[in-house]
Amino acid sequence: MNAFSLENIVTKNMNITNIKNWGLNIQASKEKPFLISGPCSAETEEQVLQTCTQIAGLGVDVLRAGIWKPRTRPGCFEGIGSKALPWLIEAGKQTNLPVCCEIATPQHAEEALKHGVDILWIGARTTVNPFAVQAIADALQGVDIPVMIKNPVNPDLELWIGAIERIAQAGITKIAAIHRGFSVYNAPKYRNQPQWEIPIELRRRVSNLEIICDPSHIAGKRALLYEIAQHALDLDFDGLMLESHINPHVAWSDAKQQVTPQGLEVLMNQLITRQSDTDNLDYLNKINHFRTLIDNLDTQTLHLLSERMEIVRQIGLYKKESNIAILQIDRWLNVREGALKKAASSNLSENFVEDIINTIHTESIRQQTTIMRKD
Ligand code: PEP
Ligand code: MN
Repeated sequence: MNAFSLENIVTKNMNITNIKNWGLNIQASKEKPFLISGPCSAETEEQVLQTCTQIAGLGVDVLRAGIWKPRTRPGCFEGIGSKALPWLIEAGKQTNLPVCCEIATPQHAEEALKHGVDILWIGARTTVNPFAVQAIADALQGVDIPVMIKNPVNPDLELWIGAIERIAQAGITKIAAIHRGFSVYNAPKYRNQPQWEIPIELRRRVSNLEIICDPSHIAGKRALLYEIAQHALDLDFDGLMLESHINPHVAWSDAKQQVTPQGLEVLMNQLITRQSDTDNLDYLNKINHFRTLIDNLDTQTLHLLSERMEIVRQIGLYKKESNIAILQIDRWLNVREGALKKAASSNLSENFVEDIINTIHTESIRQQTTIMRKD
């Protein structure tokens, strides 16, 4: 292991300023989640102003609009560019709300800062590229501006954390992450797979970092926005970014996933907000009772696994003495099938049982391999 190996690079406790302390008068709370909304792209001055003035007052804390659009294929609308910045700034003035836009290069950063954009974000197609992120971080060195970092398009948590660290190392403390899902070939349901375990792991790794969910880019279509936004609130995310457009059907980008101002209002009213925690004694007593039960069951589960592995090792020795291969595929198929058959009657999902039995089997093989290789 050398000084540069990944194991040596630990996530340092980052100095992060919470969204509410960004100095932008953001009043979000658990009852009224932090909300960023506005069009995918700024198309015309009228479209930006109409959309933003109509969504102001619907609980929106920050206005968004894409100025430079990182489109997957050339020939799509690639954004109006700097010419649209004054439209966004004007929308902020008319609504008395802070505004944000995506930047992908140092030039974008310079332009956005020059016009007075309040918050910047780094898009998914930029987060994947450490050179690009570093160039932006260098351009922002010493500037006091909040920066939100979207996850990279591929499900790589290290890359996401790396981008956050690069921005933090530029001296920026007003940082938040945005979860917008991960792309796969032939996406089945969502445009980008949420893979919720990744932002959850980000929360474990950088516990003081706030994470906003972007249901629009995960869903790819309006009908799925609600379930994703609600799930994000159920998981205690710190806010939502939702694309809205005065007339989504004719939007120049992401037409299927943008909602009208009325649609945004309906969606926000449908959402049930959750508290992170409570000091209600009744609740705490009940939950502590259940947690004790769970802890005991976890202890028993580990005990059973330990017993199982002990027998696995005995079998390993016996196989070694008898010169028999570790893997007998028929036996494994039987074990697996037996477990899967019990899934439904045990009120467990097949996927869950499959994951568990696969993990147990992998460990059993690893244990027996160690025994076989001894001496
Ligand atoms: C966007 O927010 O409009 C955008 C381009 O998002 P992403 O970087 O998540 O694709
Ligand atoms: Mn978009």
